[in-house]
Amino acid sequence: MIRTGQEYKDSLSTDRAIWVNGERVKDVTTHPMFAPIVDIRARIHDMAHEQATREVMSYIDDTTGQRNSVANKLPLTVQDWHDKRSAIDAVLDEARGVVTRVGDETVGEMWSLFDGQDVLDEVDPRFSANIRRHIDRAVREDPFHVSANTDPKGDRSLRPQDQDPDMLLHVVRETDSGIVVRGAKYETAAAYANQAFTKPTIANWGDSELSDYAVGFILDMNAPGLKYICRTGFAGRAPADDYPLSNRVDEVDTLVIFDDVEIPWEDVLFYRHTRAATFIRSTLHRYSALPFTYRNLRLADLMIGAALWNVKQTGLERQQAVQEKLAQLACYREGINAHLTAAIAMGTTSPGGLLMPEQSLLYTGRVLATTQLPAMMHLARELCGGQICITPDAASFANPETAPWLEKYYSINDGWVADDRRRLLAFARDLLNSDYAGHRLTFQLFAQSPPFAHLAAVYRNFDWEGPLQMVRSAAGLSDRVAGGATR
Ligand SMILES: Cc1cc2nc3c(=O)[nH]c(=O)nc-3n(C[C@H](O)[C@H](O)[C@H](O)COP(=O)(O)OP(=O)(O)OC[C@H]3O[C@@H](n4cnc5c(N)ncnc54)[C@H](O)[C@@H]3O)c2cc1C
Repeated sequence: MIRTGQEYKDSLSTDRAIWVNGERVKDVTTHPMFAPIVDIRARIHDMAHEQATREVMSYIDDTTGQRNSVANKLPLTVQDWHDKRSAIDAVLDEARGVVTRVGDETVGEMWSLFDGQDVLDEVDPRFSANIRRHIDRAVREDPFHVSANTDPKGDRSLRPQDQDPDMLLHVVRETDSGIVVRGAKYETAAAYANQAFTKPTIANWGDSELSDYAVGFILDMNAPGLKYICRTGFAGRAPADDYPLSNRVDEVDTLVIFDDVEIPWEDVLFYRHTRAATFIRSTLHRYSALPFTYRNLRLADLMIGAALWNVKQTGLERQQAVQEKLAQLACYREGINAHLTAAIAMGTTSPGGLLMPEQSLLYTGRVLATTQLPAMMHLARELCGGQICITPDAASFANPETAPWLEKYYSINDGWVADDRRRLLAFARDLLNSDYAGHRLTFQLFAQSPPFAHLAAVYRNFDWEGPLQMVRSAAGLSDRVAGGATR
């Protein structure tokens, strides 16, 4: 079953306690800072129904005969991943910018736990039944699913028990119907999502087998006791003509407060066992890193397009030095493309029987995409020239007193009139230079855990044995020397 955009909007309770910029938000679907991104999320639902996009966004389930969303489908074949890429392309084309936390990038975190059912069974077989049911529910009911990992954490040199215990989300008591949790999490899109896979952040559990902080569950975002304190949105801060992306595709991040929130047992995925928490942290992104990294590819395309249009306008594209810089952007783009394409083509069967992208290629691709992004943004900025930050705003192009001057200095030839040049420069500014652009860069840096965790994933998944054996042979080392890398 796929929902309509209106059904999605109706599912967001108006009783939610949401604040932004110090203001209590009465209706997240109409508030000017949320409405643009809520509308995009609603469009994603509607696109699954509409003739033009239905086939790329949805599929008919063989067993139920129902139409479901491609994004929520469990990946079983290489084709499933190609279909997912096509659906992301359709969404990003529609958004005319990059939106990441819209569901397809987060739902895969649950598939990692599907692969860890034996670990859950060790704790309590009810928990593995819960993850199967939730994955099935995601397929059948089409909820908007997000991700909750990061707590405020407080003083890292202290154990959570030795400071305000709420610095990390923890269980405060059990009830007949579930567990009661307390704490806070940072979550992009939380205020307008339906559910979040909530689990511990990266933690050192030491020797503890059991901990009240080792808890994972699916959170119903309409649950009583939740408070959403959002960072100020970019939409509406400045005119859309001057900041088109800020006004169209900002995904509002939120500090979600859990003020004693009851989680029903049927939504609990693991509880108290640190082994389950360690498992999920080490495998969390084995699927979701692909749609996340794919967003960098789209960013690269937007940077290439902005830079190339600019040098075409100004007649600089024939300069060899300019072509070399464009080629560097293309190498970045195709580097990501190659990693993701190969990770899909060389995918392996996961412990749960899913088609898992080849992990070493996927995680090295994520490192390539995120570590090179600042340099690539700077290169694109350089190609666009300083005019992206010194060009007057649309209002000055419209003001009769200043318009003739701007008309004169921003018209390049018959093909490039001032208004098109202004639009291109405004777009490039919002992509590369604005407050929103900086935020997007930071999102790609941190939203799927910080860089050290990306490298740790590479370390855990690269096949170190190959180089070791090569050097064993080339250097003539004896068989006494032990192989393998320390994990
Ligand atoms: C735009 C944005 C959106 C986000 N959306 C979400 C979301 O939807 N859901 C969610 O759960 N989280 C989200 N986050 C939070 C994100 O996961 C965290 O910012 C990230 O995990 C880093 O945690 P921190 O900010 O607390 O930094 P800290 O833990 O304070 O770390 C800061 C830096 O200290 C260093 N450091 C810390 N610990 C170690 C270590 N063990 N080893 C080596 N170096 C270390 C690293 O350089 C690290 O980058 C988002 C963050 C941003 C910026």
